[in-house]
Amino acid sequence: MRIQEEIRRLSGLRDPQGAFLSAYFNWERRDRAHRKRIQEALKRSERRSLQGVEDDDLRARIQEDFRAVARHLRKGFPSGTRGICVFASSGLGLFESHVLPVPFKTQIMVASRPFLLPLARVSDEYEHYLVALVDTESALILEIAGSIVLREEALSAEVPGRHSQGGWSQMRYQRHIEDHRDRHHREAADRLTRWVDDARVDSVLLSGQDRILANFQEFLPERVKRRILGSLSMDIRASKDEIQRRCQQLLQKKKEASHRALVRELLESVLTDGPAVVGVKETVRSLNEGKLGTLVVSRDFASIGALCTSCEMLHWEGTAQCPYCGGTAQPVSLEQELINAALQKGADAVTVVGDPDLERHGGVGAFLRYR
Ligand SMILES: [Zn+2]
Repeated sequence: MRIQEEIRRLSGLRDPQGAFLSAYFNWERRDRAHRKRIQEALKRSERRSLQGVEDDDLRARIQEDFRAVARHLRKGFPSGTRGICVFASSGLGLFESHVLPVPFKTQIMVASRPFLLPLARVSDEYEHYLVALVDTESALILEIAGSIVLREEALSAEVPGRHSQGGWSQMRYQRHIEDHRDRHHREAADRLTRWVDDARVDSVLLSGQDRILANFQEFLPERVKRRILGSLSMDIRASKDEIQRRCQQLLQKKKEASHRALVRELLESVLTDGPAVVGVKETVRSLNEGKLGTLVVSRDFASIGALCTSCEMLHWEGTAQCPYCGGTAQPVSLEQELINAALQKGADAVTVVGDPDLERHGGVGAFLRYR
């Protein structure tokens, strides 16, 4: 579940009949009144979407998608789920849902393209990772998405106590203990590796005493070592909440540092005439010219621009008439258009929280694919 990749894949989808359903739900409350409000919102949105639709097949498809979403919401979701988003288009044979540990504002939309902005916004705000807490004779591996523990497994090795090994020399006993520890570490490393391979998770954290982690890492393959973001020293018996909180703090610190570095790199590149731009106008221009690479956008950036319905050029300010071709232009959310465009081109969109340097430059900028 690399959410940026999911967004990228979704951003390339089009329903030619304009019946792509995107729905976001606030799942912080699960009481009946809240569920009822959600079902009512679905009904209202369905009625609105069917207005003016004459084609019977298309009407049936839209109705089927809404029914599928309503059915889906009656299922159970993992504890800790605070937001759910669903994308459905029976015309494309698509139905998928993501649960998130952060809430969405409930909103439902039917259009020719998926509505991805809320998902793109939150994808930067929570982390999906594995954490392995390792000791000499026990290990605990958790897969965590934000505040949700998706799965966990405890491993323990039976290390015979000294008292039961009467007559052993100190050296022989020591060797015996080390063999046990290595076997345990190898087993835990194999398990962690399997989880990395099948959970499609980029980030791994380790926790344990330095000496123990050094030994444990000997048994990890390179592809897992590469994903290790850092290590902590937590008690293996700590509560899940405590583990999740400490990991989150570490990841947050790492992310903030990497975002600060990214903004600095962007501004330096602009100053030295490198392949980068800052500011709304320049960023939109780079998109129109097909140069847009990695987009760097402040979370508070919100601006209305216009998209030409005939030549598809984007304008950095609202206008009803396209200055390029004279066609009709419609108001659009610039952050959504920019994020979508970056992801569709296979570039990244990085949402930065409250960086004063980026704010001073209009809250948006981009690295270019070429100058
Ligand atoms: Zn135009």
